[in-house]
Amino acid sequence: MREFDLTIIGAGPGGYETALAAAGRMRVALVEKDELGGTCLNRGCIPTKSLLHTADLMRAIRGSHLFGIEAGEPVCDIQKMHERKDQVIRTLRDGIALRMKQKTVTVLKGTGTILDPHTVRVRGDEEEIIKTERILIATGSRPAMPPIPGISSPHVETSDTLLDKTDGIYRRLIIIGGGVIGAEFASVFAALDSEVTIVEAMPRLLPNMDREISQSLKMLFSKRGIHVMCSTRVLEIREEGEGLRCLCAQGDKETLLSADGILIAVGRAPFTSGLFEEGFELDTDRGRIVVDEHYRTACPGIWAIGDVTGGVMLAHAASAQGKCALSDMLGKAPPVSMIVPACVYTDPEIAAVGLTLEEAREKGLQADSRKYPMSANGKSLLSGQERGFIKVVYEKDSRRLLGAHLMCARASDLISEMTQALTRSATLDDLERVIRPHPTFSEGITEAVTAD
Ligand code: FAD
Repeated sequence: MREFDLTIIGAGPGGYETALAAAGRMRVALVEKDELGGTCLNRGCIPTKSLLHTADLMRAIRGSHLFGIEAGEPVCDIQKMHERKDQVIRTLRDGIALRMKQKTVTVLKGTGTILDPHTVRVRGDEEEIIKTERILIATGSRPAMPPIPGISSPHVETSDTLLDKTDGIYRRLIIIGGGVIGAEFASVFAALDSEVTIVEAMPRLLPNMDREISQSLKMLFSKRGIHVMCSTRVLEIREEGEGLRCLCAQGDKETLLSADGILIAVGRAPFTSGLFEEGFELDTDRGRIVVDEHYRTACPGIWAIGDVTGGVMLAHAASAQGKCALSDMLGKAPPVSMIVPACVYTDPEIAAVGLTLEEAREKGLQADSRKYPMSANGKSLLSGQERGFIKVVYEKDSRRLLGAHLMCARASDLISEMTQALTRSATLDDLERVIRPHPTFSEGITEAVTAD
């Protein structure tokens, strides 16, 4: 029977990054039932951003006449778009496999089931029982499926299945859920000429983000022909001829929408199927594995990180939690702060870190905000960007930064500067002292922190 110091179940960004960090210090086994890279690489971050890149290029080519280029109407070869996406995934996956080999991490293909805190069964083409000192659970999540009648109809997709649909696009697509995944898919398919309708139960898109960002995104989507219905519940999905009908209710008013395809994007549910042998359980709360601030479960010797623990379901959060859990196993202090930035890769991009003004005030802080419209930023103007802004939230007396909310080009890069500022408890004055090059989008940060 093989023995390991650490067995990690799940090779997504939480699991594989922790395996690499632990290798050399411990004998590490990484158990994966599917493909290295997890949701993020195979069905999440990378494939969606690859399709979004095509969408951005389509929009850029369509708008190129503004810059003196007559390129004509672009035509997207859907199959080639997917081939490129798949090639990127394969390249990155091969890279992970190579790094595992170089670092002598033992990769075991199969479903990992915990028999007891020191024994894991790996069932793939063959079956193996391994002994282990510690276990790290990083089994991720799956698309949540709401109990809507008709949800199992053909052409009702999840993000997993829609990313695999290479034989064309739905001409009319309804997206149920206006969160990050819904907004990103809407951007892709609208750029590819689908008629897109987003149905969101909450009063606004991206309900967890800054209110003004939600409003601006709705306006931008309307301008691009994306129909947004907020405060709207889906009651039923019906098959009708070749197509689908979606019965929705906005208050007392019912509407029947028609579509060729429907994407369910209402969130993610922790994934623990097959993880525990009968008779062995861990504390869970609505499916998520309960952990403390060190990512320890209630069972000594077992830690859990990433999407399976609920909370912030983002790839970089899963990797950071893995680093913290590993440090805890080694008796060391956490090496990273858990101030987690969040990004939405629409065009323009959206990024946020820390508190919104509402959240800060709800916490009883004397908070205020400052905003700079990027329509006055030179780089934004010369490159023909959509309207956007940079907003900072700060504590009035100390001028300490509490949060940043960006909707502008390269927001997903700019947010790292704001995350670093928050990590160091910087003030608006600290941010003002930094010289930023001209002309850049980052000058907007200087303007936002000095805005009246
Ligand atoms: P996962 O990546 O889900 O990996 C878990 C792995 O465990 C899987 O490979 C699974 O096969 C394996 N597994 C499960 N059970 C077992 C078992 N019993 N035995 C063996 N293996 C098992 N996040 C971002 O930060 N940026 C983005 O742009 C972004 N875009 C996204 C777009 C979409 C469409 C989706 C769906 C998600 C996106 N996310 C994004 C979220 C991100 O993908 C997840 O937060 C991240 O993958 C979570 O990492 P994880 O390691 O916890 O789990």
